[in-house]
Amino acid sequence: AQPLLTVNVLRKYFPIRGGALGRVRAKVHAVDGVSFTVQKGETLGIVGESGCGKSTVARLLMRLMAPDGGEQIFDGDEVAAQGGISVRDLRRQVQMVFQDSASSLNPRMPVQGSVAFGPMALGKPKAEAMALARELLGKVGLNPVLFGGRYPHELSGGQKQRVNIARALALSPRLLILDEAVSALDKSVEAQVLNLLQLLKRDMGLTYLFISHDLGVVRWISDRVMVMYLGEVVEIGPSEQIYADAKHPYTRALLASKPSMNPDERREEPPVTGDPPNPVNPPAGCRFHTRCPHAEAVCSARAPQLGSNGAAAHLAACHMQEPASGHSGAVRH
Ligand code: SF4
Ligand code: MG
Repeated sequence: AQPLLTVNVLRKYFPIRGGALGRVRAKVHAVDGVSFTVQKGETLGIVGESGCGKSTVARLLMRLMAPDGGEQIFDGDEVAAQGGISVRDLRRQVQMVFQDSASSLNPRMPVQGSVAFGPMALGKPKAEAMALARELLGKVGLNPVLFGGRYPHELSGGQKQRVNIARALALSPRLLILDEAVSALDKSVEAQVLNLLQLLKRDMGLTYLFISHDLGVVRWISDRVMVMYLGEVVEIGPSEQIYADAKHPYTRALLASKPSMNPDERREEPPVTGDPPNPVNPPAGCRFHTRCPHAEAVCSARAPQLGSNGAAAHLAACHMQEPASGHSGAVRH
């Protein structure tokens, strides 16, 4: 089937200016050649330490900033290309929910109005937009009679995040990007909102891109998981394979760093320690080589390509992976 989203060699560098003339002194390699697909109806999780570029990927996909290179294809149409899909249309079909539920709602607007705002801005008559808002508040578990007239400060964090989800759904998106959307919530509230997201996805035929630093949550919600390190994809594959049989030393170190509820999980890898290197000047070759317990000479000399040594759907970028069968060089995934 045609993927809902295809991203090819997406790239974004942030210039750092300095000196009296404000010249570009250096560039942060925030997203450096990232490629992946998202199938209709699936949840792709994106994990990695802060600064790995996962939030920048989200912002690029929404075109909240322009990429420096690469292409993005949404349901068969190239974004912002001639004959493709416009950024304006893309922004209706892709919606985003952020971590900071408080600051994304207008404090002076009752929440029903906040949910109705987007559709009204697109020309829906007020009565219809308000009816839709009531329906959506109900769908996210907030009785519209009780909650519709409340202001954000009268709601808990979990309730505010439900309103944000309703607000995103009001534009009938096909892809919902959740960037640390449950990370600020208490564990019990987080579980409720995650359950809600699963129900909504089934109910409304949604597709999710779920970005989080929390590997446990990502495992629970994702069909496939993509691991990023210093602006690059180091591993991608089905959730159960990533968690049971990670191929990349960074993924294994991340998993070892996470407090586990499952004592059977593999623990032969030491947890990842120290901070990631400066993304202004990423290490040559494999970017993980400065922290990798398995690094050899080739690792700092050549950048490993994503490849598979088994299931074609499970790819990792590591020189020490068993030799690929039939795959070599850059693999489309
Ligand atoms: Fe470690 Fe080398 Fe593999 Fe990079 S390529 S993850 S440094 S073993
Ligand atoms: Mg982030």
